[in-house]
Parts: sequence; C-alpha cells; structure tokens
Amino acid sequence: ETVGHASQVASPMATIPEDAYLTHPDRVLWEDEGITKLGLAEFYTEIADWILPHIVNRPLSLLRCPGGSQKECFFQKHAWAGLDEDLIQRVRVGEDEAVAIQDLSGLLALVQAGVLEIHPWGSTLKNPEKPDRLVFDLDPGEGVGWDAVVQGANDVRDCLQDLDLVSFVKTSGGKGLHVVVPLHPKASWDEAKAFAAGVAAAMTKASPSLYTDTMAKRARTGRIFIDYLRNGRGATAVAAYSTRARAGAPVSTPVAWEELSTIRSGNQYRISNLAGRLPHLQNDPWSEFGNIDQVVPKTKRRR
Ligand code: ATP
Ligand code: MN
Ligand code: MN
Repeated sequence: ETVGHASQVASPMATIPEDAYLTHPDRVLWEDEGITKLGLAEFYTEIADWILPHIVNRPLSLLRCPGGSQKECFFQKHAWAGLDEDLIQRVRVGEDEAVAIQDLSGLLALVQAGVLEIHPWGSTLKNPEKPDRLVFDLDPGEGVGWDAVVQGANDVRDCLQDLDLVSFVKTSGGKGLHVVVPLHPKASWDEAKAFAAGVAAAMTKASPSLYTDTMAKRARTGRIFIDYLRNGRGATAVAAYSTRARAGAPVSTPVAWEELSTIRSGNQYRISNLAGRLPHLQNDPWSEFGNIDQVVPKTKRRR
C-alpha cells in the first residue's frame, strides 16, 4: 500500500475498502492542505453514511480535476469512455444522459476518476421529472459581508415558513449558503422553478437594497443574488458533504439553523476539520430532512 505523505498529517481517517481501485493514491489534489487522492478516498469512506443519502440514485454532474484542484477542471454531465459500469451507471433522463452511483464503491470510483465535486439533480432516478428538493443558492455580490449572507438565509427560511415550508441550510463550501427544501415529488420542474423565482422576487421586492433576483453582475454589487436557477430541469447544486475544488479543500456542510449565527464563512468546514465535527454532533442537523412531507404550494402570491 502506498500512503501519501500528507494524508498522515490530518486526523486519522477510515481505511478504504480492500476492493477499492485507486491509481496514483499519493497524487496531491489540494496542495495547500496536502490532501492526496487516497486522503480523499479515506475522507469519503469516513463520512459515507452522511453523504450517500444525498448522492445515490440521482442524476449527477461531476467536476473532474484529474491533476488536482489547481490544475484543469471540467464539468462532466455524461458518462465517459472507460468508466467502470459496475460502479458508475450511465442513466438516461428523457433526452438527457447522466451518471449515477448507488453506494460507497460508486463514490470511490468517482474519486478514482478525479471527481472533486459532486453535483446532483434535485430529483431521483425513480422520479426524475419531479424535484424532491429545491435549492436557494445565496450568492453574495461584491462588498457583501458574511453577516448579511446569514441574514439572507434566515430571510429565505422565514419566507418559506410563511408558506408552511420547512427548510434546511448548508454552507456551500465557497462564498455562500444554500437553503434546501425537501419536497414530496409532485410538482413539475417548471412549477418548482416558478415557485422558487417567486420567492426570490418577493424577497427582492421587500428588500431591494439587500437582495436581487437578477443574475446580471451589476445588479449584484452590494447585494445577494438569490439564485433560484438551481431549480430548473437539469440544473444542479453541489451535494451536501461534497468537497469543493477550491483552496483549503472545503466541504459543503449542513448546519442547524440554531448554529448558523456561529458559522463564520461558507468554507469554514473542510476535509481537515469536518470528520472531527460529525461524531460530536449530538443530532444530525438535517436528521428530519428525509421525514418532511411537503409540496410546492399551488399559488405563489400568498405573500
Ligand atoms: P458559492 O457559494 O461560492 O457561490 P456555489 O456552489 O453556490 O458556491 P455557484 O457559482 O453559485 O457556486 O454555482 C452554483 C451551481 O451551478 C454549482 O454548484 C453547480 O452545480 C452549477 N455549476 C457550476 N459550474 C457549472 C458548469 N460549468 N456547468 C453546469 N453547472 C455548473
Ligand atoms: Mn452559490
Ligand atoms: Mn449561484
């Protein structure tokens, strides 16, 4: 067994399954953190129970960076030549093609393929045309401080709560926060996106100095773009517990609404400190996520 020099620096991680196939285990993927390909495989093995519910049996888009996070990365939406079809499935969703995995072996096959970010659709293979989650992606424009991002997430939550919708929050692993709404898959993609657009428009109307629902760069300066466009058919957002191909090896991390005010940035949680957080959590901050039975409200004018 070849062990990367740097993977020994971080806290001890789980040993990857014996049958996992990993070439170049000591290739460094995040130079600043010294995290190797083996280190990434160990990380995902360690947190498998946390991430798998969010990524299995869904169409996936993948950010692949075979040479590491500082080298060329590309967004991969389709199956590729040479993929191990026992572990990574080609799936067809109407006209679209995507890939899917079913378990830890599939996840480790993604690591083998140089995947540093996992971006699922908001729907499952069983019912791909009916989203089972919405994502409100809070994108702070230039000059927006972190406290305003936290306030923005809380405002999205309040807005949804007024419509009797329960939501959850995670760090993006980058600059922002994602508010995620579990759904019983009933509404179409068009209905879901129209609803999400309505929420973003209502927030923009109520607080035009804080929020915008316009993607244009100019509108975003000093404001938070409530990016509702994650909710279209084929659109994606990074998965809960996926790593990011960015400095520091950050991880998109679910947090409790009650602890959000103590979070200091969108990239606070990283490979190097996340595995330490999980065993100490008294409750999974998203433990209720799978138990919520709610649908996109019919009218979006209730506000
Ligand atoms: P941040 O908090 O820094 O904004 P983010 O993950 O929310 O992090 P965004 O730039 O807001 O980053 O992107 C939102 C989503 O758009 C991504 O998570 C991804 O799913 C999708 N995306 C990004 N790049 C591409 C791409 N090249 N092709 C298709 N979808 C993409
Ligand atoms: Mn974002
Ligand atoms: Mn965005």
